[in-house]
Amino acid sequence: MKLTDMRHILATRDIRLTKSLGQNFLHDGNQIRRIIAAAELTPADRVLEIGPGLGPLTEALLPACAEVLAIEKDQRLVEVLAERFAAEPRLRLLHADALAYLQENTLDWSAWKLVANLPYSVASPMLVELCLRSRGPQRVVATLQLEVAQRLMAAADTDDYGLLSLLIQIRYEPRGCFRIPASCFFPAPEIDSACVTLVRRETPLLTDAEITIFERLIRRGFSQRRKKLFKLLKEDWTEAALTAAFAVAKLAPEIRAEQVSLEQFASLARHLENTHHVHSRSLEQTVRR
Ligand code: SAM
Repeated sequence: MKLTDMRHILATRDIRLTKSLGQNFLHDGNQIRRIIAAAELTPADRVLEIGPGLGPLTEALLPACAEVLAIEKDQRLVEVLAERFAAEPRLRLLHADALAYLQENTLDWSAWKLVANLPYSVASPMLVELCLRSRGPQRVVATLQLEVAQRLMAAADTDDYGLLSLLIQIRYEPRGCFRIPASCFFPAPEIDSACVTLVRRETPLLTDAEITIFERLIRRGFSQRRKKLFKLLKEDWTEAALTAAFAVAKLAPEIRAEQVSLEQFASLARHLENTHHVHSRSLEQTVRR
């Protein structure tokens, strides 16, 4: 889909783009081809696309897979898409807020791939919603802000490492990332973007019950970045349980959360899930996203 086609559709329908919906459309054919290549699509694949916009990615996805479920919040764009793809049986178009849809419908996405140029303001909560659950998509190829992409890919002891890196990486392995210049979008956003590829871990690092503990650990651990992890975790667990868990994970009591690797947090979660030494505050209090 060329830039001139986009301008033409918007002008003839008198559509003014909404900044708060992150309406920056990808018109660069090379970048779309790179995204499609990263998705490694087979003819049997089912693809979830969030925020199809005017459909530049949708039109490249459709010939390469069995089905695309595209969720778009803007009714005006849903109308454009319904017309553009009227003869395309493989497209299922849904007019909805994708974040609300994902939260309200705990569907099994494990046989799906997510391929999307996400609305930037809600890209992180959408990815956490999809990737932290037990039946998340097998592969995620998501275009988002470069700065968020860097956080998704980050390893311990780097500036970008934090809560988001761990919430995603506990179930997904980062496989690749390429930068997409702002000039590839219409209108050009103020920041550069990147496309990340995440692949669901074949062998999960933790059980679902342990992941509940893991989430609680990291949310508490990163609640005050400069404070020592041990001290923060005393809010939720007894000193005895923490001392034992830190010893198993080979962690010094002075360490801060940003220095603790994914595997070490996983070890802490495994140990603390088995000890049941949680303070009276119930696990249900863990604020989810
Ligand atoms: N995929 C298109 C492309 O690459 O040109 C459009 C991408 S644009 C960055 C983000 C799209 O997400 C817009 O079409 C916007 O209307 C839509 N959008 C924004 N918030 C949404 C939400 N909560 N649920 C579904 N779609 C949303």
